[in-house]
Parts: sequence; structure tokens; C-alpha cells
Amino acid sequence: MTGAGGDEDAHLAERKMRFLFALRSHGVTDPRVLTAMEKVDRGRFVRGIFAERAYEDMPLPIACGQTISQPSVVGLMTQALNVGPRDTVLEVGTGSGYQAAVLAQLARRVYTVDRWRRLVREASTLFRDLGLVNVTCMTADGSFGLPDQAPFDRILVTAAAEDPPGPLLQQLKPGGIMVLPVGQSDAVQHLIKVTRGDRGYDYEELRPVRFVPLVEGLGNE
Ligand code: SAH
Repeated sequence: MTGAGGDEDAHLAERKMRFLFALRSHGVTDPRVLTAMEKVDRGRFVRGIFAERAYEDMPLPIACGQTISQPSVVGLMTQALNVGPRDTVLEVGTGSGYQAAVLAQLARRVYTVDRWRRLVREASTLFRDLGLVNVTCMTADGSFGLPDQAPFDRILVTAAAEDPPGPLLQQLKPGGIMVLPVGQSDAVQHLIKVTRGDRGYDYEELRPVRFVPLVEGLGNE
């Protein structure tokens, strides 16, 4: 059948194909990550006038003055985290919920926290609507981690701290991996991969990035 609806579907399919192509050309090559990102519709996590840009490889504004990360960065971080199907993952910085929804395709269970109640409320509604039953979303200052649910196989931080927060390092299982941006918010930040070995932590610098800062305490919305 042809007509406006058909054209729109074809247009959307083409945009989604370009979306996956952009991921690959930025180095997201792990088939599990690409499949996960193909399954999660970024358009559901972006509101209003920005929704039509959901399939472009750029960060976009969300509520509470925050941003949904650039898809290629989400892909590279997810790839570096090397999540397995039995893993329990903590994400600090729920934001729109997009990154958590991608992680939910790969992990057994995902805990995600944000300091803004409003973002947690909106993301929780989305997770329910999308049937993502293995994601738990909570309001908390994520620099302290989630002591009640710890330890974690994987930890992903999507806001920049000056150094990896001590409680997060402690809540990582031996053999576990944490990926996070470090550096001052208005300067160059680097994506770091921390692996917890038997006798200590191993640090690997991945690439320069730019994230909103990890802020202490809860937001007022
Ligand atoms: N992962 C998100 C994007 C995150 S933007 C997505 O996929 O859309 C960074 C988020 O980190 C913001 O929502 C911000 O409120 C949150 N944040 C900053 N400091 C925090 C803290 N101490 N604890 C929890 N969340 C924090």
C-alpha cells in the first residue's frame, strides 16, 4: 500500500538504517550492542521538538537541564562495559532512560539512579510501557552507589566526576568493569575503563568525551 503512511514508514526505516550506520562508522562493532541498539527506539526517549532528531548521532536536551547522550557514545560505552547475560549492572545518571534500556537488552538486571525525581518518574513510566521488567529506577545520589544492591558486575556512570567515586569502586565485584567519564565538566574529560582485579584496579583511558557533571545531592524537581 502506498500513501502518506507508507512514505513515513519508509522515511523512518531509512533514518534508523543511517542511525546504525553512524554507530558502526564510530567504532561500535560488537553485534550484541548493535542488536540491542536496534531494538531500543531512541525516539521514545526524546520529547517535543527534538523527537524528530532522535535518530541523528547527537546529544539532545531532556528535562531538568540534562541531556540524552550521543548514540555513538552510548554504543562505545556499552561496548567497553562488555555486559554478559548474567550480569547485574548499576547505571549512575538515568537521564532519559535510553542507556538503561540498551543495557537491559544485554544484562540480567539493571539498577539505574538519578538525582532528579522527575527524570526517574518519567523513565520508570517508559520502562513499564516498553515492558522492560528487568530495570529498576530510583532517585538517589549515585556517587554513593547502591549499597543495598551491591556488589555489581558492571557499573556505568554517565555524568563526569573528577575521580572515580570511592563507593563505586568498592561496589564493583572482583573481575568487574566500570566505565565512566572523568575530568572537570568544562574541560576535556576522558572515558575511563576500570577493571577490578584480585589485587587492585586497572585503569585504561579510552577517548575524550563531554558529559554533564556528577552533582552532589538530589535535584529539587
Ligand atoms: N544516561 C542518560 C544520560 C545521562 S545525563 C541517558 O541515557 O539519557 C547525566 C545524568 O546524570 C543527568 O540526568 C543527571 O541528573 C545525572 N546525575 C548527575 N549527578 C548525579 C548523581 N550524583 N547521582 C545520580 N545522578 C546524577
